[in-house]
Amino acid sequence: MLNISKNICQKNIRWSTTHFIIFSARGYHHSWPKKFLVQNNINCRKIQYLKLQKCNFRTTQNLYVPPLIAMVLRPVLRFGALLIGRGIKKWWTRKSEKEKEEYKHWFRERRNMFLGCFGLYGLMLAVYYMTHLETDPLTQRSRFIIFNREQEKKLGKLILEAHLEAHKNDLVPHNHPAYKRLMKVIERIITANKDLKSMRDIQWTLTVINTPLTNSYILPGGNIFVSLDILKITENDDQLGIILAHEMAHSLLLHSLESLSDQLLWDFLIAIPILIVWALFPDMAAAIIHMIGERILNIIYNLPFSRVLENEADEVGLKLAAKACIDIREAVVFWATMRTLTEMHTLPPELPWISTHPTHGDREKKLNELMTKTLELRKDSGCSTLPVIDPRDKFYKRSEKEQEIYFKQRGIM
Ligand SMILES: [Zn+2]
Repeated sequence: MLNISKNICQKNIRWSTTHFIIFSARGYHHSWPKKFLVQNNINCRKIQYLKLQKCNFRTTQNLYVPPLIAMVLRPVLRFGALLIGRGIKKWWTRKSEKEKEEYKHWFRERRNMFLGCFGLYGLMLAVYYMTHLETDPLTQRSRFIIFNREQEKKLGKLILEAHLEAHKNDLVPHNHPAYKRLMKVIERIITANKDLKSMRDIQWTLTVINTPLTNSYILPGGNIFVSLDILKITENDDQLGIILAHEMAHSLLLHSLESLSDQLLWDFLIAIPILIVWALFPDMAAAIIHMIGERILNIIYNLPFSRVLENEADEVGLKLAAKACIDIREAVVFWATMRTLTEMHTLPPELPWISTHPTHGDREKKLNELMTKTLELRKDSGCSTLPVIDPRDKFYKRSEKEQEIYFKQRGIM
């Protein structure tokens, strides 16, 4: 059980295998291989691939942006617009009244040309946006993506190296019982969902870290990170499966690529207002307007968009878990537990408007709404019948005092 991608068709670089070897190396020899890529060939089984729906707008090859360039371009665009705007303002203040009048006259004469340039800039962005829309095969949602899977793999490799370096003292070896338990659940989800091409294509890796922060996340390219404390907060393997399936859904849905694409487009869009604000207003006023503008954009667009992606990962994750015959009713129990712990002030309070994630209560409610339909999917996947006692009923029947006693018994309060 060196890797979790042994069911996945692949012919090129295998990350997962080497990744798991590293943990044993760290666990026993305290060494860190500089390069951990190996070549491996596996005969691919002939499996019916999902037919990807293509966007009708596209008639030519996509112009993909290297993700690293995109990441560098983001601050350059914003800071560049600020500097250019400020530079124009300084240049203007050095001009005499006569020169200012002459420039105003010159500008008025060419006003249409400038407006045309702005219009052309907007049109180019709109065309680029329209030609890079694609339909997600799992959700049928139209999304804007300017990177491809290969680029994601390269980006994932770099980010994985950085994260492994950052957590080099916290890594849990692969022979640890927690690691084995998590691997087993991940393998179960992969095996049950191998009908999905994206599931087979991703080189899934697992990293378990021993940090005080209870957290799980996935890096681009399918690199799952789980903190050891997740095992304390989850009541059973079903809840663990729900969390892992949620993370895997983020990767299947290309959420990291979509977010980066979206952010870069916004950077191009708001570069012009930033330039204008810094050109027209004194530095202090420009800084305040700039900061308020960024906060407003965050609250009205970026954070709600992030919450939409989280809800989507919850929904798709629930389906992945259902196909793996997990008791998906535990998803509701898990988020109900998180909500109750928050209400009891064991977990920090939630601030829905400025949060990247929906509230625990919202997730509990939404997952509960999806339950009937997703339980049908579980049944259709050939899974055995679920226990008659619904874990949700068991949870909701407990009084507040009984919940408190139960949480204390489990050591999560
Ligand atoms: Zn998530």
